[in-house]
Amino acid sequence: MLMDATPPLNPIYRQARFVLCAPTVKTLPADQGHEVAFVGRSNAGKSTAINAIADNKSLTRVSKRPGRTQAINLFEISPGRTLVDLPGYGYADVAKSIQARWQAQLTHYLEQRRALRGLMVVMDARHPLTELDLQIIRWTQAADLPVHCLLSKADKLRPNRIPPLIDHCLAALNRFDHAISLQPFSGLRKQGVAHAHAVLDRWFELPASAATAARKNPDGH
Ligand code: GDP
Repeated sequence: MLMDATPPLNPIYRQARFVLCAPTVKTLPADQGHEVAFVGRSNAGKSTAINAIADNKSLTRVSKRPGRTQAINLFEISPGRTLVDLPGYGYADVAKSIQARWQAQLTHYLEQRRALRGLMVVMDARHPLTELDLQIIRWTQAADLPVHCLLSKADKLRPNRIPPLIDHCLAALNRFDHAISLQPFSGLRKQGVAHAHAVLDRWFELPASAATAARKNPDGH
């Protein structure tokens, strides 16, 4: 579930460009190509993580504009490969009825969207696997959708706290019987970006980056 060798960074994610803000699942573009979606509680560090993955500090600024925090923002990496920034959940100041409506949309998206290849769940490493996080992961099980958890803000933990945290999360995730992996991540310090790239590469079916190819085949044969 946890990768240990550090893979190389893939420069393709620097090409990420904002393409669309969809207020509802219904207004998303045609269900084709490859999508990878990011979810997380509000304030978990989702925007910072997406920016770190794309090596672009201002990429997700658009999703922070008033009125857009409850919308779905799409960032294209290359034609047919899209990062999907789903609205944060668990906002204290959003009315329950709006939260319920959004949850219904989210379930629909996770269970029905054929282009969706995987889900990145961003969780503050100090408060992982809240009831809402687990609920989302439960929905992915119904769709047999692979999940990768980013334990964000890992820089806020002492390094010796990370292995027990990983063990604790893996034990909690063992009850799910579909593919779930996880890693520590710090958008602030750019830690864990290469591992996240490796997961995205797989889900986007990107060819191995030149660096990966060189490492697999050091003699150039
Ligand atoms: P979002 O609501 O999930 O998109 O969260 P943001 O990315 O906006 O981050 C929420 C807060 O956490 C901001 O004050 C960020 O500066 C902070 N934050 C995000 N990622 C990190 C990180 O890796 N390390 C630290 N120390 N703070 C972070």
